[in-house]
Amino acid sequence: MLDLWLTVVMCLYLIEMVNYYPAPSRFSVGWYGVRVVGFLSSGLVLILLLYEINTLYGGLLNAVRAQRREREARLMTGGAIAATIAHEIRQPLSAMIMRADTSFRLLDRATPDLDKAKEAVRNIAADGHRAQAVIESIRENFKMDARAHSTIDVNDLVAEVLALVRDEVRSRRILLVVASSAGLPQIMGDRIPLLQVLLNLITNAIEAMAARDGPRLLCVRSEIADDGRVLMSVADTGTGISSQDTERIFNPLFTTKSDGMGMGLSICRSIIEAHNGQLLVTPNNPQGAVFRFSLCPATTHPALS
Ligand code: ADP
Repeated sequence: MLDLWLTVVMCLYLIEMVNYYPAPSRFSVGWYGVRVVGFLSSGLVLILLLYEINTLYGGLLNAVRAQRREREARLMTGGAIAATIAHEIRQPLSAMIMRADTSFRLLDRATPDLDKAKEAVRNIAADGHRAQAVIESIRENFKMDARAHSTIDVNDLVAEVLALVRDEVRSRRILLVVASSAGLPQIMGDRIPLLQVLLNLITNAIEAMAARDGPRLLCVRSEIADDGRVLMSVADTGTGISSQDTERIFNPLFTTKSDGMGMGLSICRSIIEAHNGQLLVTPNNPQGAVFRFSLCPATTHPALS
């Protein structure tokens, strides 16, 4: 490009020189023409050089920015994987520690309560299996092949999650309402990740209600949507979510809690999206938040049709 424009400038110089000999009379057309050509020949190269240099620096800046973004994305992925594992197994691990403490206390009594201690140990084993299943499911998430979907009864899923949070709901004096439409079809999905989604949403709801005084009502609803999908919602009367945080809360590592990891909702969203659904949040009336997602009924699932 520079060669081409230098040739153009040399041609303009040539025209200028030819126009000078013989020298045109003052203020004639030729006299003005020589000045215009002179101005163009000197200005053109300067403007082009400035343009080329700016384009070059612009490209360089974009390349540096892209490299920085790539490095940040790589660091973020590593951090996100570690945070995902930590976040997902934290709940079963704390349950195991709490139950182990309880069984010690039961065995330490003057007359040990063996039946209750046995039950606590049985629950520890169940939590251990759950942690193992969660790790397995995270590993599956990073595999490229298709996930193994099976038919799931949504009510069973809800009951299973509520059994895990029962003690916390009771200790925080939360009123629990479980509403399920009659004739709800079974859904098609991956049980362990869906269990984690419900557990995350319910745990967040409990924590949001614990952070404020006032009536504490947790409502877990499952119904059939107009399009035939199974619609699930978790509604609470907690702190609620401000309009500027509505999208940010789904970003990895975004948290407003001092001990939060900010991974729960981002994991939930990716699990629901892997089930061809969408996880959305809206304000609850008059107070709190409602998280909603819908799942494909087993009868219309693409894998079955
Ligand atoms: P963490 O619970 O570790 O902070 P999450 O991704 O689960 O990570 O949640 C991100 C943020 O979203 C929370 O810190 C909280 O501010 C907000 N949030 C999530 N659920 C609720 C809810 N039910 N009510 C109010 N805020 C919520």
